Amino acid sequence: MEQPTSDIQQRVQKLSQQLHLASYAYYVLDAPIMEDAIYDQLYRELQQLETDYPQLITPDSPTQRVGEKPATQFTSVRHNIPLYSLENAFNTQELKAWEQRGQKVLKTEEKEINSSEPLYICELKIDGSALALTYENGILVRGTTRGDGVTGEEITQNVKTIRSIPLRLKLENPPPKVEVRGEAFLSVNIFDKINQERQKNGESLFANPRNAAAGTLRQLDSKIVRSRQLDFFAYTLHLEELALKTQWDALELLQEMGFKVNPNRQLCPSLTEVQNYFQSWESSRQNLPYMTDGVVVKINPLSRQEQLGFTQKFPRWAIALKYPAEEAPTKLLAVTVQV
Ligand code: NAD
Repeated sequence: MEQPTSDIQQRVQKLSQQLHLASYAYYVLDAPIMEDAIYDQLYRELQQLETDYPQLITPDSPTQRVGEKPATQFTSVRHNIPLYSLENAFNTQELKAWEQRGQKVLKTEEKEINSSEPLYICELKIDGSALALTYENGILVRGTTRGDGVTGEEITQNVKTIRSIPLRLKLENPPPKVEVRGEAFLSVNIFDKINQERQKNGESLFANPRNAAAGTLRQLDSKIVRSRQLDFFAYTLHLEELALKTQWDALELLQEMGFKVNPNRQLCPSLTEVQNYFQSWESSRQNLPYMTDGVVVKINPLSRQEQLGFTQKFPRWAIALKYPAEEAPTKLLAVTVQV
């Protein structure tokens, strides 16, 4: 194994420190200190150095964790099914590499695969904060944040202030237990209004709608949460009994249950259609009333999703295809961090 020079060792330490600092500011304080594009760039640099020199990977490296630990003011709840993050792809090559990795896994499976369904479904990647909602006999009993993916914060009272989240499912015979996941977000208009208000009151401004949504969900005072008018798009449905065939069907059923589901979803038989979808939204997303930072490509047949499963950090059956940052990645926010 090639030995890293002391410059490389120092670089790895430095990157690790900076990413820890940035991720704490981002997830725990909801006040980012650097642009996302810079964060992603530094993260990738660290990942590459750790691939080249695996002996430099430490258990506390930012690349080894799933998300930030839940805040202590709320009760911690363990997710039944981990609420992992998504792997990112920044170009066609990375998207194709993801497809090839998936095909390899599927080829080793002996089960017959039903190929009559389109393979991919594209959804817009809503720039908000993930929530898991539990319904028992059709009634909302619990709302939790993603937290570190394994354990989240119980924020049921706050979740109940979001008008687009049904307190009771619109189903005649609801199953005993249903879990719905999706994205809580703020519209661009409301985000601007909140910041104008904060400016008037001499308070610090939220850096983006995502941080504002995450910060709002973790307010201890539910009245403040209600006043901020969060919205919610559902995108995942876990049902113990009803057999669903595809992610498309799951989204349709979520809609019937009374959830708001993003209408801009599309089935894609191959990566060519996925790329067309990605390109077609690149500029038109600016006209949407909410922020999106990419496209989430998912394997549509749920049987294949099951076969692909998860890595330690991500589902193998989904990937986030990110739009390039709008600003040149040179601007640091709030404080200057030496890179
Ligand atoms: P992510 O933003 O790359 O993607 C995962 C999330 O996408 C999910 O948890 C879910 O909440 C969301 N999502 C939205 N629409 C979805 C849909 N239709 N289907 C499924 N999921 C959907 O992952 P992350 O771990 O939340 O954040 C990592 C990103 O955060 C980095 O790429 C970086 O840009 C940013 N970050 C920035 C800083 C900073 O200092 N600026 C620090 C840490 C992280």
